[in-house]
Amino acid sequence: MKKITIAIDGFSSCGKSTMAKDLAKEVGYIYIDSGAMYRAVTLYSIENGIFNENTIDTKRLKQEIKNIRISFKLNSETGRPDTHLNGVNVESKIRSMEVSSKVSLISALDFVREAMVAQQQAMGKEKGIVMDGRDIGTTVFPDAELKIFVTASAEVRAQRRYDELKAKGQETGFDEILENVKQRDYIDQHREVSPLRKAEDALLLDNTNLTIEQQKKWLFEQFNKVTG
Ligand code: C5P
Repeated sequence: MKKITIAIDGFSSCGKSTMAKDLAKEVGYIYIDSGAMYRAVTLYSIENGIFNENTIDTKRLKQEIKNIRISFKLNSETGRPDTHLNGVNVESKIRSMEVSSKVSLISALDFVREAMVAQQQAMGKEKGIVMDGRDIGTTVFPDAELKIFVTASAEVRAQRRYDELKAKGQETGFDEILENVKQRDYIDQHREVSPLRKAEDALLLDNTNLTIEQQKKWLFEQFNKVTG
């Protein structure tokens, strides 16, 4: 069967990665979490003194961006890909509140986006890929055969993030998470380079009242429609 490219964009914490991962597994495609790449650059910047308080040493980051190698390796325990930064597994670290609160500032930098988009396009050269993010259907793969734009209420998204972090033992207050979700939505939608927006030819999915199973079924139906 002919392989296609699938772009899943949308707001923070609306379950994009869950649906993208499940679909990729089901149809035997590669799954790439593009947000993890921006998170890894953010972690690198924090750990190397490039991100101090709320200021970024952009000159240094620009020089060092070519040394930031991001890769994904399948975790045999979870069956899902873990993010590696310069050869080190940083999957857990990049999901911390500290990284979440700083990532939208890093991802708004044009040279960071340029470097990440080039890597993402190289990963998708052969098609057979599901990538989730904010600008996949608009900038990374504008010719993707299937584009989905996901949204849900900010409260529902914050609750999902709260449950996810709690399950991992990273207790954070609900209000702090809700504030972070809203703040990231704002920065992501208003940045100059590749702001978060629905591609004209993307299908809109509001999953506020959908279970993971219902959403999975819907996505699989859309995949079947496109691939015949
Ligand atoms: O998807 P996730 O919430 O992990 O993404 C973290 C952040 O990375 C987003 O809030 C956004 O600032 C940035 N991002 C982006 N473009 C993408 C994916 C993520 O700007 N394609």
